[in-house]
Amino acid sequence: MTYAARLSLVCAFILLACLLSYKWVGLQMNEDAGASRFARIVSACLQNRQARIPKFNNQDTVFLSNVNIIIKNGNLEQRETSLIDKSKPESFDVTLDEYIKFLLKNFLIKTDFEEKFQVNVFPSESSINVYFLTCDTTSILPPQAKCAYVGYFNSIVCNVKSVEEMFAAVDQYDRLYDVIGMNTSSNTMMRENSETLLGYAKSEIKKNQITWILGHELGHAILHRDLVGKAGIQLHFSYSYNKQEREADEFFAEKLSRSPALLAATGAGNSIGEFIEHEYRAILAQDESIDKKLILTRFVPTIIPIKIKLGLGAVPLIVRALNIQRAVQTAGMWEDTSGYYKIVEDNVTLIEPLQGVPLKEIVFWAATILGCVSVLFTLFSRRLK
Ligand SMILES: [Zn+2]
Repeated sequence: MTYAARLSLVCAFILLACLLSYKWVGLQMNEDAGASRFARIVSACLQNRQARIPKFNNQDTVFLSNVNIIIKNGNLEQRETSLIDKSKPESFDVTLDEYIKFLLKNFLIKTDFEEKFQVNVFPSESSINVYFLTCDTTSILPPQAKCAYVGYFNSIVCNVKSVEEMFAAVDQYDRLYDVIGMNTSSNTMMRENSETLLGYAKSEIKKNQITWILGHELGHAILHRDLVGKAGIQLHFSYSYNKQEREADEFFAEKLSRSPALLAATGAGNSIGEFIEHEYRAILAQDESIDKKLILTRFVPTIIPIKIKLGLGAVPLIVRALNIQRAVQTAGMWEDTSGYYKIVEDNVTLIEPLQGVPLKEIVFWAATILGCVSVLFTLFSRRLK
């Protein structure tokens, strides 16, 4: 082997070693620097009193009914009447703060973090830290995300403003498409779209949103700690319904289906369909060529298909709700006997953004090209001699 060829080979090896160690050192540094940066940002928000539980409604209370009165359309035979706690009255109010802690406690049972969680408290490595922040979260949360598992200090960060906007959208509902109600004390059906039923349904939907969002993020916290912390992979930045996303939804559905307390208190699964109906129509309404009256008719999601453009960091709620709905069915909590939601799902087309090409792939191709160039250079310099 010629001197030039040997030199090129040695150079190529040194280059490769440098690249690998740079990536490794970089990751280590990133993890430590990232964690302390995260702690600094969160601590500043807490010190400035920029952390609070989102506003739920005028009274800031979540209505918990001992008796579940929401019935899914077309599935009357699946009516559930479940008791949360026989020692308590038929229905009672809790604050959203209490409700969130109830969720954390129950979703974390039989995990490494059983009874180890805190809300809006300085980060601790030994617990799940949940933050509802009103300060600027752009450097720690994916753009437009409501809540996300961040990895550092096992933290889930929620943006209060985004969560409240999500609640406010539900408060605008003026009719129901999927659920009907039943008054369990008189055993009579509630009048369609009556104020009482609407108010109850809206409260249930909002309660459910926070339930499945937190349940999903807790799934990431329990299942994907090493992935986010050590490998430095950020979840929710590019959207594809990958293994991690599916696992987080499955965690939610599994925990829910196995916990009578969670099932009864959250009523989850019952109002996801109603939420999907409204989100579907909100997306349709953006298309000016579609008649507004048509949008208000029943079963529209099975009639007019929609296309959703996916952006970086923002997984549309309807997509997350459809995934959760599927996970809930897979866990055996509810069966869509009518096949209605299968048709709705088929009618939703997702358009992946070009930015969705993962960085890993770019690095892989760059390294491959570099490798080929080195080999060619080695061969070429050998021939020259
Ligand atoms: Zn996720």
